[in-house]
Amino acid sequence: MKEITIIGAGLAGSLSALMFANRGFKVTVFEKRPDMRKEEISAGRSINLALSERGISALKRAGIDEDVLNEVMPMSGRLIHSISGEKSLQPYSGREGDCINSVSRGGLNMKLMDAAEATGKVTFEFGVGCKRIDFDNNTLTIENDNKELKQVKFETIIGSDGGGSYVRLAYQLGGVRRFNFSQQFLDHGYKELVIPPTEDGGFRIANDALHIWPRGTFMMIALPNLDGSFTCTLFMPFEGKNGFEDLDSEEKVQSFFEEYFPDVLQHMPTLMEDFFTNPHDKLGTIKCFPWAIGDKALLIGDAAHAVVPFYGQGMNASFEDCRVLDELLDKHNDDFALTYAEFEQVRKANADAIGDLAVQNYYEMRDHVAHKDFQIKRDIEVDLEKTTNYNSKYSLVTFCDNVGYAEAKKRGELQDEFLLDLIDKGEHVGKSSNEILELINKNIKV
Ligand SMILES: Cc1cc2nc3c(=O)[nH]c(=O)nc-3n(C[C@H](O)[C@H](O)[C@H](O)COP(=O)(O)OP(=O)(O)OC[C@H]3O[C@@H](n4cnc5c(N)ncnc54)[C@H](O)[C@@H]3O)c2cc1C
Repeated sequence: MKEITIIGAGLAGSLSALMFANRGFKVTVFEKRPDMRKEEISAGRSINLALSERGISALKRAGIDEDVLNEVMPMSGRLIHSISGEKSLQPYSGREGDCINSVSRGGLNMKLMDAAEATGKVTFEFGVGCKRIDFDNNTLTIENDNKELKQVKFETIIGSDGGGSYVRLAYQLGGVRRFNFSQQFLDHGYKELVIPPTEDGGFRIANDALHIWPRGTFMMIALPNLDGSFTCTLFMPFEGKNGFEDLDSEEKVQSFFEEYFPDVLQHMPTLMEDFFTNPHDKLGTIKCFPWAIGDKALLIGDAAHAVVPFYGQGMNASFEDCRVLDELLDKHNDDFALTYAEFEQVRKANADAIGDLAVQNYYEMRDHVAHKDFQIKRDIEVDLEKTTNYNSKYSLVTFCDNVGYAEAKKRGELQDEFLLDLIDKGEHVGKSSNEILELINKNIKV
């Protein structure tokens, strides 16, 4: 039976280690950071993440969904904060119980590593980074914290080392002929800020929604944490007015928040410290192909398809990779060459679709959610979902794990176009949900 070598013990690497172990494989995972269960380290990019259906169904396949769902904060919609302080809740769906879940990145990662280790088949080696890969001779060069290099043999490698993947770089550096790669950064970056709990450990703002302060060229969002705090993420341009570089003094930050986020400023007592201590980081989309080298190597997760975070799907898509990989191993009786080949064929179009949707949603979140037609469309869609089997684009992406991202994008975009046109002409007025659904079904063929 093959031994599996995984590079990167992040979210995708740890879940796939667990799934390979559940199939009986022996797995070694090399992770360049220290063990986060023993040392206090920042878990990585964002403190919390929105976990939704695709992610949950992968966790279910690995048998760890209940454990994870015991420690999440469900969010049923977007709570939009206008500049004048008015709030409006836009439910994510019209269906009872449809929600996305705020989960701690570090907590989730540690649970996955614990579960993988508990199988007795997975060994994690921390503080060990992948430096070179010789695909011809199945040899991997790893480096420990003391900068000592060691060569190890591998049978098959899973490259789950994130957006800055070294495994992907080894493909580029000659592992794969005609390797296609593109990286597209946004002009905008992000910085994490905090709304701490009240003195008695309570929540300062509603804890059952994802808060959004859309402000045109920039926006802030906040997701609740179990301890009563919220992690806020400020998205804004790097340069220019109301950009990170412009906000270079406490006075400027104070007056910026007073002008644009007056209702939340009182809840951010550590704003200045957070703003000037926490880094701001870039956001980008990575597309590449191929992902597989015969039965020797496969890229999964952000290493294969990093996406910007505006659909809350990067981790969910990475977990879906793990689920599909496991299903294909079933289908092909653990034949790795056949599995890897089909994996990249079925996943590539879906990964491209969620990458594009995530960029589009940036504009929707920071701008359109506050527009009247968008709100009318959302109201119509919520009513449709309450009374019929309709799914909005958001629902197709977020709640329908039986529909691929590519199909969700295509169908969702046609629906959006049709409904916005109907609203524009005023033809939605006086029509029941069933009548609107009939029109949609008549006019949209996917
Ligand atoms: C601000 C922000 C908010 C986000 N919010 C959401 C959200 O709400 N919902 C959602 O679904 N997704 C979200 N995402 C996306 C999500 O974080 C990623 O899609 C997810 O982390 C991908 O998992 P991964 O395992 O592929 O990569 P990672 O989680 O990045 O893990 C990669 C691991 O590989 C290790 N590594 C790197 N190089 C090497 C090497 N050479 N050798 C050994 N180890 C190495 C790293 O240390 C790391 O542990 C967000 C992303 C950002 C930036």
